Amino acid sequence: MENKIHLFNTLTRKVEQFVPNTDGKVSMYTCGPTVYHFAHIGNLRSYIMEDVLEKTLRYVGYDVKRVMNITDVGHLTSDADTGEDKMLKGAKREHKTVMEIARYYTDAFFADCAKLNIRKPDIVEPATNCIPEFINMVETLIEKGYAYVAGGNVYFDTSKLKDYYVFSSQNEKELMVGVRDDVSEDTNKKNKADFVLWFTKSKFDNQELKWDSPWGVGYPGWHIECSCISMKHLGEYMDIHCGGVDNIFPHHTNEIAQSESYLGHKWCNYWFHVHHLNDKSGKMSKSNGEFLTVSLLEQKGYDPLVYRLFCLQSHYRKPLEFSYEVMDNMKSAYDKLVRKIGELKPDGEIDKDGFDRYRAEFEAALANDINTSSAITVIYDVLRSSLNDATKLKLIKSFDEVLSLNLTRMQGAAESKGEIDSELEAFVEAKIEERKAAKKEKDFAKADAIRDELLAKGVRIRDTREGVVWELV
Ligand code: AMP
Ligand code: ZN
Repeated sequence: MENKIHLFNTLTRKVEQFVPNTDGKVSMYTCGPTVYHFAHIGNLRSYIMEDVLEKTLRYVGYDVKRVMNITDVGHLTSDADTGEDKMLKGAKREHKTVMEIARYYTDAFFADCAKLNIRKPDIVEPATNCIPEFINMVETLIEKGYAYVAGGNVYFDTSKLKDYYVFSSQNEKELMVGVRDDVSEDTNKKNKADFVLWFTKSKFDNQELKWDSPWGVGYPGWHIECSCISMKHLGEYMDIHCGGVDNIFPHHTNEIAQSESYLGHKWCNYWFHVHHLNDKSGKMSKSNGEFLTVSLLEQKGYDPLVYRLFCLQSHYRKPLEFSYEVMDNMKSAYDKLVRKIGELKPDGEIDKDGFDRYRAEFEAALANDINTSSAITVIYDVLRSSLNDATKLKLIKSFDEVLSLNLTRMQGAAESKGEIDSELEAFVEAKIEERKAAKKEKDFAKADAIRDELLAKGVRIRDTREGVVWELV
């Protein structure tokens, strides 16, 4: 098929034509959340923009297979392998087990994603599911001479590579800017940039999750999980790997080092990185200042899709500053837009030429390195155009396959308001009760399945302080 999409590739530092390994198919991997706390809306900016990338690829005709990991072990408070395991920190904070924390925050993450209309990837795999795969990769890296055991841990030997800093000619100090928290020296390392593949000697004797390995009882490093999980589901050649810019170094740099050493060939062709959302103080944080979550936005009266619009109005490669003033402007722009779309009358014949022309314009905006704000401008162009209502509506519904802003939510609102028949109402109420019971039993999978079942029927439910509320979408 025609390769229309152009993307900025962090690996080459250029906007390039996107050509997948297999014609018409795309394999895509996303670094998933570390589930020790709620996601902040910065994290979710990355997932929103990656969602738009995935949906754009589908929109232009690619068959996309997308995989995401869930980091439930091994991610230390510093990305450079020092500090405490974040999961353990979360468990201590809440006096729960690591697995309880992981399950709770994984569910919370996908609930936030659902509110933001972020599609769940085709495959979601927690790191703790894949310990044998990690051990196998580490064994191979040792056999091939790329890894060594020191002080009980296994390290990747970066001096074995011709070019370790693949993303940049910058030195490590500059790259470390994105790395979080304290960075202390590990004297076991042969080279400063070496990183841990498998820990057995942890500073923390109370590390809850440990597994047997050829190097002793221990747990995997953070980077190895993404290499293994992506290969497990997408094979040895991958098209696109995504994450926030802080993942470029050391996480993605290390993923490439170990994956390509293991495979003996190039692994992933395109690297897509979303720039950070910052608050006024600079860095978005889960521990300092106001912890900005989707629930907080809802409490303050913002529909989560207003935040999605906020993200789509700026380019994913630019830093974005969060403010309530801009959110207020977005809220009124969003309300006005859906009201205007709500007034369109669905009858009439589709103007095929007009439809194709604006669809091509919309595609061209997205094909130009996912220019979402230009894509949104096309909605306004359509509304202003001389096309008939039916064609306008069909175009906007089509655009919403990518933008996922529920743009037609007010369609026919006036007529249908009184028509939510009592049968539907009874059905929804019964399902809400069933979900409540499932949650009480801690059967979160069932609770999620009920929420998804309702959504598939066009009913969105939301947990609020006042209880569960529902609406037609
Ligand atoms: P984590 O849960 O820390 O592993 O991060 C989940 C995702 O959010 C990763 O892709 C990070 O790169 C991304 N991320 C972290 N902070 C921000 C931020 N302030 N803005 C946008 N993305 C972020
Ligand atoms: Zn990753």
